[in-house]
Amino acid sequence: MRLGAHMSAAGGLYEAFKRGNDAGCDSMLVFTKSNRQWAAKPITAEDVEKYRQAQAQYSHIFPVAVHASYLINVASPDEALWEKSYQALRDEVERAAAFDIPLITFHPGSYMEGDEATGIAQIVRALRRLLADTAVSAPQVTICLETMAGQGTNLGRAFSHLATMLDGAERHERLGVCFDTCHVFAAGYDIRTPATYAQTMAEFDGVIGLEWIKCFHFNDSQHELGSRKDRHEHIGDGHIGREGFANFVNDSRWADHPAHLETPKTEKDAEGNEIDMDVENLKRLRALIRA
Ligand SMILES: [Zn+2]
Repeated sequence: MRLGAHMSAAGGLYEAFKRGNDAGCDSMLVFTKSNRQWAAKPITAEDVEKYRQAQAQYSHIFPVAVHASYLINVASPDEALWEKSYQALRDEVERAAAFDIPLITFHPGSYMEGDEATGIAQIVRALRRLLADTAVSAPQVTICLETMAGQGTNLGRAFSHLATMLDGAERHERLGVCFDTCHVFAAGYDIRTPATYAQTMAEFDGVIGLEWIKCFHFNDSQHELGSRKDRHEHIGDGHIGREGFANFVNDSRWADHPAHLETPKTEKDAEGNEIDMDVENLKRLRALIRA
């Protein structure tokens, strides 16, 4: 697999490459704008040029994937919020295209006071419009729906939710799924042993199709199987455990797939020294790869 982590773009997106290199990333996940703000500064020709130079310098880091803003909720029953979310999502996809980034992942959304089916229909409406609106501006960008833990009214917890969304958008070739280990586990799908992993993957294949998985988020889970709580833990320190991740990194079907950590960046050791946890978590993952 192409293992990596979420890297800060503070100071400019191109700066993420150096950080990714220092952490030992083979690929990386970035935000192209503040993830908790609606507005974004427009991308300049200079931004793109600096990005290209860094990409050439750190050409071993690929692919890069974007995570869209957490504010976006295209499942919202509120029309004004839906439209605002839609425009923000479209902007995110076009920003990824400006940097020639091939993947973007977003959270499908929460249905709030409505119901699941209405929320899923809102997401489908957004996907269909998005694919049409970005057909020319971002043809190279694959848009991935993330598997979710199912906190509150979050959609994407059940594999069937994602299948319905993909079906609604006619299984468009620019769509995909981002498989988040913590979320899938918290949603109730076991991946801890070779047998339960095989069973969950077979279920995913039957309901969605494994070929729709384009990328992974590798996070252990602070909460137990089926808790529907989305709290990421360091690799091996949570309820999934190292053997769960061994199932993924040794599965030849994912040999070329990117997998990104979204775990806390630092911890303190017993002496109070700061440990770079991306370096540590990547080390733990690589140690699981069987020759
Ligand atoms: Zn994730």
